[in-house]
Amino acid sequence: MQYISTRGAAPELNFEEAMLTGLARDGGLYVPKTLPQFDSKFIGSLSYLSYEEIAFKVMKPFVGEVFEEVEFKNIIHQSYSNFVHQSKAPLRQLSEKHYLLELYHGPTLAFKDFAMQLIGQLFRASLKKTGKRVTIIGATSGDTGSAAIEAFKGLEAVDVFILYPRGRVSEVQRRQMSTPSATNVHAISIDGDFDDCQKALKDLFNDLKFRDQVNLSGVNSINWARIMAQIVYYFSSYSSLNLGGKKVRFTVPTGNFGDIFAGYIAKKIGLPISKLIIATNQNDILHNALTSGEYARGIVNPSMSPSMDIQVSSNFERAIYYALSCDSSKVSQLFEDFGHTGSFKIQESTLINLLAHYSSGKVSEDETSETINNALKKYKVEVCPHTAVGLKVAEDNMCDEPMITLATAHPAKFFEAYESSTGKRPVMPKNLSNLFSKKERITELPNNLDAIKSVVLERI
Ligand SMILES: *Cc1c(COP(=O)(O)O)cnc(C)c1O
Repeated sequence: MQYISTRGAAPELNFEEAMLTGLARDGGLYVPKTLPQFDSKFIGSLSYLSYEEIAFKVMKPFVGEVFEEVEFKNIIHQSYSNFVHQSKAPLRQLSEKHYLLELYHGPTLAFKDFAMQLIGQLFRASLKKTGKRVTIIGATSGDTGSAAIEAFKGLEAVDVFILYPRGRVSEVQRRQMSTPSATNVHAISIDGDFDDCQKALKDLFNDLKFRDQVNLSGVNSINWARIMAQIVYYFSSYSSLNLGGKKVRFTVPTGNFGDIFAGYIAKKIGLPISKLIIATNQNDILHNALTSGEYARGIVNPSMSPSMDIQVSSNFERAIYYALSCDSSKVSQLFEDFGHTGSFKIQESTLINLLAHYSSGKVSEDETSETINNALKKYKVEVCPHTAVGLKVAEDNMCDEPMITLATAHPAKFFEAYESSTGKRPVMPKNLSNLFSKKERITELPNNLDAIKSVVLERI
């Protein structure tokens, strides 16, 4: 399997190279050159397999021959060995046709662990073979950073720097990033919002001299391997319902469009999905784009669901690429314009293509609180604020088809928001218990590229 850039001007790479590269050198994102197709027989055969077995079958065509079969199987087993739930991604029935896909049983309590644990193992295997060293720089609204630090801490051949917006992550998110004692991981708080962190990251990648000097690598959802790992739970959840080929809908709480884009790929390679429903909080650039046809950056308004406080959605570029029938010159034009003006107009025909797969809904802060409360009363389930955004949009979009809503984080990770909504603490998982007494280690920096570069150069 070969990978090409959405902007068409970067070298074609195999899976391993695309994974280690992160952002393409032309500023675009890597996508598979061709997509595999799974038929209904294949999908039916997944019903009685374990999560790891499904993961192997679904991801194998994307990885190609880079890893030997046995090695890749071992990597998958290792990646999910420290998830606390037997089935890794259990499905909980809420009502006759509505299911909650619990993606928060990994080590840092958010769905990011599914991809990050795997990437950690893949990087380890890959760097061991080549003897190379890489510097990973990531931008996070909270969960990517904690998952990356957990996955890469202590790894010899990797230094990890995580940029997060100061004061805009939850206490648990911050502590998960700042308390690991491994000397190869660095939590850096930036004076700015998530979009500033992500912009700094992209600028570092586009500074080709710096990029080559530190052997820069990225684990944000610009990295194709992240998307690939997230395709798996669309298949596993569908299979566990035994629907005999009938269609389902998924509602996905969305920020950077990575998780829902994985659903789009699942649909494109054969999973019977009728609609993917984008759920946004008050930072609604995506909902706006689909309803008005104008993709326009606003300012980020901090919300109860901070992991979705994003206005510039990296993976939307991949969605536009497919909606434009893989026309990379048009993609380049649009996103270069966006870089300069902060907006572009989505052509009628492109919008029609998007709306064939996606719809959207937006949830206010009050509605988020109300939904956290309702979930507890109606379904006896504790949900995090991001999941609440998803639940509300899903309930507004119920029809005859089964609906699967992605529960993206454990409520304990956002206990402040949970408590202010319900007046109660959520059940705190055991692995959080000593987080609050550990010493924190944070580097505070202004939103300035040179300051970030010099800290990186000093510490690698
Ligand atoms: C990252 C994250 C999201 C948004 O996911 P994207 O892939 O960026 O759209 C939603 N909820 C939680 C809890 C997250 O950590």
